[in-house]
Amino acid sequence: MKILVIGSGGREHAIIRRLAADHPAPELHAAPGNPGIAQLATCHDTATSDLDAQVRLARELQPDLVVIGPEAPLVAGAADRLREAGLTVFGPSAAAAVLEGSKSWAKEIMAAAGVPTAASVTVTGLEQLEAGLDRVNPLGDVPFVVKADGLAAGKGVVVTEDRAAAIVHAEAVLTAGGQVVLEEYLDGPEVSLFCVSDGTRVVPLAPAQDFKRALDEDEGPNTGGMGAYSPLPWAPAGLTEEVLETVARPTIAELAARGIPFTGVLYCGLALTSRGMRVVEFNARFGDPETQVVLERLTSPFAPLLLAAARGELTEDVELSWSEDAAVAVVVASAGYPAATRSGDPITGIEACEARGAHVIHAGTAAADDALVSAGGRVLSVVATGADLEQARARALAATEEIVLEGSHHRTDIARRAAAAALT
Ligand code: ATP
Repeated sequence: MKILVIGSGGREHAIIRRLAADHPAPELHAAPGNPGIAQLATCHDTATSDLDAQVRLARELQPDLVVIGPEAPLVAGAADRLREAGLTVFGPSAAAAVLEGSKSWAKEIMAAAGVPTAASVTVTGLEQLEAGLDRVNPLGDVPFVVKADGLAAGKGVVVTEDRAAAIVHAEAVLTAGGQVVLEEYLDGPEVSLFCVSDGTRVVPLAPAQDFKRALDEDEGPNTGGMGAYSPLPWAPAGLTEEVLETVARPTIAELAARGIPFTGVLYCGLALTSRGMRVVEFNARFGDPETQVVLERLTSPFAPLLLAAARGELTEDVELSWSEDAAVAVVVASAGYPAATRSGDPITGIEACEARGAHVIHAGTAAADDALVSAGGRVLSVVATGADLEQARARALAATEEIVLEGSHHRTDIARRAAAAALT
């Protein structure tokens, strides 16, 4: 089987790494890929944003399956263009990807499907701001949640107790021409669940938790994600089934009923609040860095699952199998991330890192004169497994310490609380 994966980040490296572990291993291509992916797949110099070039490349390669990794090409219509060209594609149409591309539309779908989520108000003008904040946070005694409606690579959301800061963020989004979604604050731990769908049927993967804030103890600004782990020993029994029944299936059915079948990964971001489970967000693709840990634990063949979804032939009674091991991913970010990113710094220590039993997933890296250099905010993630979370976490952290990248930073508390709770 020949597979083309579109994208260049850590998620795509993790997808390709897992596809390469299938038996028999598929022939793998990536567009454009990255230096880590290049060790496993043939990389083609095609920008993720260049849909014409992707269609040209796919026509030439004639893969059995195209997997689209990132949200931007999905929202721009990459899946539609490739399907029109006769290819079999894992990834939703532009119309279905609006579920991620517009938080206000996602709210509308959830309301229609009866999916539990935070109460919200969509604001289109400055004059609606104060009243909107009062509606979602009438007593002002919990944080304000202010979201840019459109795609913002994890940086469009501000959660703050400071009303003035909430207003500043909302004003910035509105004056840039965007809409703002104000939300009720959700307390409680977060869970990410990837649900693979062929437009009608849904197969869940294993739940994971990611760490959005830049600094330890969930301090600092939101990022694209600084680490993740799976499984979640603390999660209530039956969580996956509950998400399937109350969130994923109703959402997929609502979209299908509107003539917008969703083929790909419906990423359900959930908060387990004291009043029950609520959807925090939907994404229309695999999450990064959760993919790194979820796929690390998947022991069933991966390519047939994606192909069945892409062909509309998913069977819901497929029993995926999972390693008993825990997996932890620690993201190494470049100096200044997320406010700024610094590129071009040499990266060393990968061999020493892997000698400690971890493996390195490339995200923002580039090859320069035989050296590896940083090329983005989240540069790489270090993934380790262990018999339990504590072991996986200790291995991932010790391995991360071997990476040398000037000015870089990483969190040291990924999975710490869950590991400690599991031991008691
Ligand atoms: P972007 O749109 O910038 O790409 P995103 O899609 O990742 O960001 P969300 O997942 O909606 O944005 O929010 C980012 C994080 O903010 C969440 O993972 C969660 O930690 C926090 N958050 C979002 N909504 C709420 C809420 N209603 N209550 C509490 N925290 C929230």
